[in-house]
Amino acid sequence: MIKNAYIHIPFCKSKCNYCSFTSFVDVSDIEKYLVCLEKEITFFYQNEKLNTLYFGGGTPSLLSVNQIKQLLNLFSFENDAEITIELNPNDIDELYLKNLLKTGINRLSFGVQTFNDDILNIIGRRHDSKEAINIVNLAKDVGFDNISIDLIYGLPNQSMESFKNDLEIAINLPIQHLSFYGLKIEEGCKFYKNIPDNLPDSDNQADMYEFLCEYLEKNSYEHYEISNFSKRGYNSKHNLNYWNNNSYYGFGVSAHGYDGYIRYSNKNNLKDYLENPFEHEVCSRLSKKEKLEEEIFLGFRKGEGINVKNINEKFGINFEKKHSDILLKYSDYFIKTNIGYSFNTKGFLISNSILSEFIE
Ligand code: SF4
Repeated sequence: MIKNAYIHIPFCKSKCNYCSFTSFVDVSDIEKYLVCLEKEITFFYQNEKLNTLYFGGGTPSLLSVNQIKQLLNLFSFENDAEITIELNPNDIDELYLKNLLKTGINRLSFGVQTFNDDILNIIGRRHDSKEAINIVNLAKDVGFDNISIDLIYGLPNQSMESFKNDLEIAINLPIQHLSFYGLKIEEGCKFYKNIPDNLPDSDNQADMYEFLCEYLEKNSYEHYEISNFSKRGYNSKHNLNYWNNNSYYGFGVSAHGYDGYIRYSNKNNLKDYLENPFEHEVCSRLSKKEKLEEEIFLGFRKGEGINVKNINEKFGINFEKKHSDILLKYSDYFIKTNIGYSFNTKGFLISNSILSEFIE
């Protein structure tokens, strides 16, 4: 039974310079897209009561509240379901937020990225810091009590001082959750062809990451996932479902899903999706070995790390014996917990290279 769903809204008014996500600036197909999305959902969704639903993008706040309501009406929900929408700070106003609250959406995630206006301009965001601060305060005033913001570190021209200033502003906002992203310039984004000046190097990025971990923990945020921090009781249930390696629906262009056996992804091309929203582009049935590797990879993203007893029972292995060499080799980067192992901050920083050793 699948109890969590992601809906991708792949439209943006403009393309940010660092962005390589699937998003389209021609918004003329939104109506058509919503029709296809509805068809896809009705076809695959088995009417389970959902624990979480997440509208991600792209820019879901380009949809009207009525359009969002129509999508929500396709699902049924548990009483305490977490329903999140990603919002661009300057697309919406007080009336939009008030109406959004009435739909049942109870968690907001704002793409703030930084509070430095010069940098916002360099990276091609449409909002400024004042708009971001105002909209977060407004969201709280209209009644939202579960608000997250995204911030990026390693941005062009971003000094440690500027990043510290971002963190200070953030923790004084009425928010409960922060997500971070270390800038990577990937193929397909505007910066890739035109590398900006004054890009912090990997050492600077690592310093920023270490600083933010320490700073947020000091300010009562729980470091519950490699890049996510929350006040007590405000972990993102939706994202934890991914990291707990559980199943979820993925609807819309380029969305990914997992039914517990098969991982699938939808078409990346909007035209192809609009022609046939029922066909997954990639479907792969996971072997037991792949499932185990995913359990380890995803589990180690969490602050609490992996649960060794569960893994041993689920996969019929002795984790500590099987991986004793890795646990010894990187013992400075692991913490032995009550349930298994987790990374310390230094471990998180080099987690990709450590985790690659768990793949046989
Ligand atoms: S970063 Fe987000 S808002 Fe900017 S273009 Fe990409 S998907 Fe759209």
